[in-house]
Amino acid sequence: MQTRYIFVLGGVVSSLGKGIASASIAMLLSRMGLSVTLQKFDPYINIDPGTMNPYQHGEVFVTSDGGETDLDLGYYERFTGINMTKNNNTTAGQVYNTIIEKERKGEFLGDTIQVIPHITDEIKRKVKFVGTGFDVVVTEIGGTVGDIESLPFLEAIRQLALDLGRENVLYILVTLVPYIESAGEIKTKPTQHSVHRIREIGIQPDIIICRSEKHISDEIKDKISLFCNVQKDCVIEAPNVENIYEVPIIFAEQKLHYIITGKMSIDPNSDLEISDWNTLVKHANEINSVVKIAIAGKYTKLKDAYKSVLAAITHASWANDVKPEIIWTESDSLVENPDLLDEADAVLVPGGFGLRGMEGKVAAAKYARENKIPYLGLCLGLHAATISFSRDICKLEGAQSTEFDKKTPHPVIDLLPQQKDLKKMGGTMRLGHYACLLFSGTKSLDLYGTNIVYERHRHRFEVNSKYIDILKKNGLVVAGINPDTKLVEIIEIHDHPFYIATQFHPEFQSNPLKPHPLFKGFIRAAKERSNERKR
Ligand code: GLN
Repeated sequence: MQTRYIFVLGGVVSSLGKGIASASIAMLLSRMGLSVTLQKFDPYINIDPGTMNPYQHGEVFVTSDGGETDLDLGYYERFTGINMTKNNNTTAGQVYNTIIEKERKGEFLGDTIQVIPHITDEIKRKVKFVGTGFDVVVTEIGGTVGDIESLPFLEAIRQLALDLGRENVLYILVTLVPYIESAGEIKTKPTQHSVHRIREIGIQPDIIICRSEKHISDEIKDKISLFCNVQKDCVIEAPNVENIYEVPIIFAEQKLHYIITGKMSIDPNSDLEISDWNTLVKHANEINSVVKIAIAGKYTKLKDAYKSVLAAITHASWANDVKPEIIWTESDSLVENPDLLDEADAVLVPGGFGLRGMEGKVAAAKYARENKIPYLGLCLGLHAATISFSRDICKLEGAQSTEFDKKTPHPVIDLLPQQKDLKKMGGTMRLGHYACLLFSGTKSLDLYGTNIVYERHRHRFEVNSKYIDILKKNGLVVAGINPDTKLVEIIEIHDHPFYIATQFHPEFQSNPLKPHPLFKGFIRAAKERSNERKR
């Protein structure tokens, strides 16, 4: 089948949930038997978000091939179950970098390098490259129509309709249709302006997805249809939802999947099949009992920094017939007041970088261990648990320091060997998926139910192999190791309701239909604690 290209653009403001919309569209099409992939273009100049502060960018989503990518790729995977790679996320920085490198190699000798055609050609090449072999590729353009940075991307996707045939290309605008409280009215003007802006570039949207707090009446749809030059049935409503997994269902109710396949003359292989998804959402929305999960992190003011962790907690909670309530605890405050964790049913220490907050994370790991509160540590959360264990239980000299992120090394949490060789930071992390061999007699093996698993990594530090014997002798259980390098991948403490920490980031592989086994076990333990406390 000829590949079809769907472009999703954002109008009026950012944070409208373009990523969720794109993921939902891809999911619906894939559930009509089509082979689908997704792609995200980010208009910033960084090569990838790996070096950006989570406060600016939110979580860095790690793909199995070790890409440090935009968090929207997390939605793509969670909604569609389709594995993303580095290639599915391209930044303006990457595009420029490729062109400049080629220029230096003399590949354009004689030419003046320009945005059109050189940069736009590279963007087009990327779209076609990602789409190769698929029935449909859904490409989300980051940013908002009207941003200077996104212009080359919009120009490139305009040209693509010429290159590939207009019938093979579809433009979807996700826009804000605000409700003005004082006037008691829904306003379409910002949407009209956005559509004018993209029409100036030469793009006419085929479908407009309207994000709105209020129901959009027929009258408003007529207006948007008329002023924005789209058919009325192509004006789709996307109301605010409590549960983001409802979005594809809401789209399907408005027949968005048929509109798309109809407009592009796609012959789907089957009718839409989302009954499992419907059941899941219905079940989730009926849950009443709550588990309280404390997250001891440093970016607690920006929930976007922990998108995948929150998603994994949510999926696992639903599987346990509970819903999570997150208690955000600024890790710094736990040094003095670890008992802040008392009200929680379980404690999670997520990944993180830098020293700030580290002592608090160690305090959280210690408190959860001593007070038998279920604990899940992710990457830095494993380092915190190991440091606390080496201090209190092994009484190791030098373990008092948390300086492992600085020049003074911590004895137990050490740089990876390749880091030492390189002696430089930045772009030298252990990234992507690696095998983990699980040992018998461990809770982790029980939970996974299989002895080799692949999990995603993003770190520079690890448990120093010199200390593994001492740690083990004192009761720390090494539950999983990398079969090749023997690096520690999972630790556990027994004689505790649930105390597991991983060197990898299991949260990246959780899916609402397939919750991650470690998170499932963690939430089950939280639920047990919650029930016990009610007794
Ligand atoms: N900063 C730690 C390291 O580099 C932990 C990283 C993480 O939690 N992802 O190893």
